[in-house]
Amino acid sequence: MQPKKFGLIGHPVGHSLSAAMHTRVFREMNLPHTYEAFDVQPADLRSFIESTGLDGANVTIPHKVAVMKYVEQLDQSARDIHAVNTVVFGGQKIGHNTDGVGFSKSLEEELVNPAGRNALVIGAGGASRAILVSLMGYNANVTLTNRTKGKAEALVKALNAQDKIRVIDYNPESLKAALQDTYLIVNTTSVGMTPNVGYSPIPKGTLKNGQVVFDAVYNPLKTQLIKDAEEKGCKTISGVNMLVHQGAQSLRIWLDIEPPIQVMKDEVLKNLTN
Ligand code: NAP
Repeated sequence: MQPKKFGLIGHPVGHSLSAAMHTRVFREMNLPHTYEAFDVQPADLRSFIESTGLDGANVTIPHKVAVMKYVEQLDQSARDIHAVNTVVFGGQKIGHNTDGVGFSKSLEEELVNPAGRNALVIGAGGASRAILVSLMGYNANVTLTNRTKGKAEALVKALNAQDKIRVIDYNPESLKAALQDTYLIVNTTSVGMTPNVGYSPIPKGTLKNGQVVFDAVYNPLKTQLIKDAEEKGCKTISGVNMLVHQGAQSLRIWLDIEPPIQVMKDEVLKNLTN
C-alpha cells in the first residue's frame, strides 16, 4: 500500500492529541500512513495549503474559517457550520467539517436522543456553531446563552435560526429558570479548561438528577462542570468523545475506513493524564 501523509494545521499546535490518536489508529490497523502536527502562522496558511504534500489535514484554531478561502470546494457540513476542520487534498481541495458528527456520535453512543427535547447550549464560538447545527438536525428545542449576548444573537441570525433558537441572558437567574425543564446541557465555552480548572459555566445548584451534561472541554477530563453534574446525579459526556468522533469521521473521509473508536479514546486518555 502507498503510504499517505496527514497532518494537523494550527497555531500553536503544541502537544497534539490528534497526532497521537491518528498515529495510533494507523499502527493498530497496520496502515503505513503518517500524521504530524504543523505550526502554521496565519500569514503562511495560503502558501502552506497550496504547496503541501499532504493527502489530508485537520485544521484547528485559528485557521478553521480562513482556510475556507483556500479550498476549491466546500462540503455541505463546512457550509452549514461555516468552518473547515478537515481537508482532502488531491485533484481538488475539499473542505469538510466533522465537529457536528463528532458531537452527534458522542450523544448516540450514550443513547442520548435530544429529538423534540429541551437543550441549553452555553457559548457562541466555533464549537457552539457546530453543535447548534447538529441539535437543529435533531429538531431539539434549543436555548442559547453566552457571556456576550450580542454574539449569541449574531450567531442565531447567521444560522438563520431566529424561529428555532431562543437566546437568553447569561446570569444565574435566567439559567436557573431555563434549566428547570432542560434535558440536555451543553457547555461550548472554554470555562473550566486547563489551566483555569475549578470553574464551571453554570451554578451547581441549577443542575438536577436526570439531566444530561455534555462538556466540549476535554482537558481536564473531569471539568468542574462534569464533577458537579456527577454529584447531582446527571448523566455526563466528556469532550474527549467529541474529539475522538470528529477524528474518526476525518479518517472515514480520507481513507474510507472504520477506525477503532475505543483505541482512539484510550490513546487520548493516555495522553491527557501524562
Ligand atoms: P471560541 O470560538 O473562542 O469561543 C469561546 C466561547 O467561550 C465564547 O462563547 C466565549 O464567550 C466563551 N467564554 C470564554 N471565556 C468565558 C468566561 N470566562 N465566561 C463565560 N464564557 C466564556 O472557542 P471554541 O473553538 O468554540 O472552543 C470552545 C471550547 O470547546 C474550548 O475549550 C475547546 O477546546 C472546546 N472544543 C472541543 C472540541 C471537541 O472535539 N471536544 C471541539 C471544538 C472545541 P464570549 O463570546 O463572551 O467571549
